[in-house]
Amino acid sequence: MKKLILLGSTGSIGTQALEVARAQGYQVTGLAAGSNITLLEQQAREFKPVAVAVFNETAAQQLKISLADTDIKVLSGEVGVCELAAMEGDTVLNAIVGIAGLKPTLAAIRAKKTIALANKETLVTGGDIVKREAAKNGVSILPVDSEHSAIFQSLQGAPKGSLKRILLTASGGPFYGKKREDLENVTVEAALKHPNWSMGAKITIDSATLMNKGLEVIEAVHLFDVLPEQIEVLVHRQSILHSGVELSDGAVLAQLGTPDMRVPIQYALTYPQRGVCFEHLDLFKAATLTFEKPDTETFRCLPLCMEAISRGGVCPAVVNGANEAAVAGFLAGKIRFLQIADLVQAALEKAPNIPQFTVEDIFAADAQARALVAESIR
Ligand code: NDP
Ligand code: MG
Repeated sequence: MKKLILLGSTGSIGTQALEVARAQGYQVTGLAAGSNITLLEQQAREFKPVAVAVFNETAAQQLKISLADTDIKVLSGEVGVCELAAMEGDTVLNAIVGIAGLKPTLAAIRAKKTIALANKETLVTGGDIVKREAAKNGVSILPVDSEHSAIFQSLQGAPKGSLKRILLTASGGPFYGKKREDLENVTVEAALKHPNWSMGAKITIDSATLMNKGLEVIEAVHLFDVLPEQIEVLVHRQSILHSGVELSDGAVLAQLGTPDMRVPIQYALTYPQRGVCFEHLDLFKAATLTFEKPDTETFRCLPLCMEAISRGGVCPAVVNGANEAAVAGFLAGKIRFLQIADLVQAALEKAPNIPQFTVEDIFAADAQARALVAESIR
């Protein structure tokens, strides 16, 4: 029986991963969250892991008291989350949001766990280091992000060196078709209404700005060893074709399905086997599939991410950090929607040039980008 450690278990991906764990009968040996101890306690009582970890120290102390009648160990803080990631288990599914996921991924890799990766910020900020560590430890990184799972599935059986191009699809988000002038005064509520997917708040805003697609371009560069120029972003409103590849002979292979994150979550956990069917795709119902070029004049976060990965070094960490801070500012009602891209651009313009970087450099660049955003928000 597979032993699963789930980081970010209380979130959108985390709760769906537990549905998959129930369907597959996995043993869940570790659960981690940020601060939602009400849900984490329920999950702990159901799955009876060896340990749980809570990032927030105060919440961890409270959970320790609530779970005193069990023999579940309660760890706390960033150190506790990283310790949990290295404990008893075969696979670590990282569904933490933001750069907070980077160190736990590295801890899991060093403990030689298979990585099922939803936390795209891990590869965006630390791609080169993470890949080097994974190779050194003989660890596989299996994508959970639906597009990257689709690409990975399309590549099964493709000979090495045959990948020519990646076709990365995007839903276009809630503001598809809108121009800058339409977006001046959009509300948080409108930005949180995604047409096809129900996800955590941060990634939902990233989908509205197309930052999510920019982060996914960077994620794909690392996962599939391609150049940014080999990735074509296609706006595909129906979210049925989850992405694909073009091979050297021009053959295009793609993965299609209903928009349901349990499918890519499950594939990362059952790979190379296939799991259970959650929902059948009726192509007659889907009927029409459309593909358009993204509007990069209006949604500038996408070209900014392209520029960041082309420049390399810590530039992707800078755009990511600026975006995390700007999105938090937008969600708190402190800045307007269009300012998110402005702040990401301003941070990228000031990004230091560090071609060979360490984990410390990444966090320094992240902090600098966040400070710049904080200054403009004040
Ligand atoms: P949510 O906001 O719904 O969940 C985030 C999870 O991370 C929660 O369990 C949260 O705990 C936990 N968390 C936050 N900070 C920390 C921390 N410092 N240490 C430990 N745990 C922490 O996000 P999503 O599930 O939507 O997204 C998770 C990741 O997956 C993101 O990187 C996202 O880009 C990616 N992803 C998500 C998709 C989706 O459909 N949702 C699709 C593809 C990728 P708490 O609840 O206590 O705050
Ligand atoms: Mg995605």
